[in-house]
Amino acid sequence: MTENNLSCPNCESTRISKNGKIHNGKQNYKCKDCGRQFIKNPTKKYITEETKLLIDHLLLEKISLAGIARVTDVSETWLQDYVNAKYDRVSKEIKVSKKKGETNYSM
Ligand SMILES: [Zn+2]
Repeated sequence: MTENNLSCPNCESTRISKNGKIHNGKQNYKCKDCGRQFIKNPTKKYITEETKLLIDHLLLEKISLAGIARVTDVSETWLQDYVNAKYDRVSKEIKVSKKKGETNYSM
């Protein structure tokens, strides 16, 4: 695992800079895009694209998040975030394709 895999936990940007060390000696990082500071958590596994594809597949099978987390060995917290982000993206796509017309809102 290299530092090149680092990405911001807030915006997923990979433009990360080192930001000194925190009190327990761990390297602190700062996102150049949103300014979020974070430390690398070595216990947090990097989720591979294969795992994500598998999760997408299992979601279609209407398997519970707890079940998917067990099968794919990811944390339920991570999975919940992943699903939220996914549905968020989908609903945005729907909004974009559903033309809202040229309504003028006068305040
Ligand atoms: Zn960020």
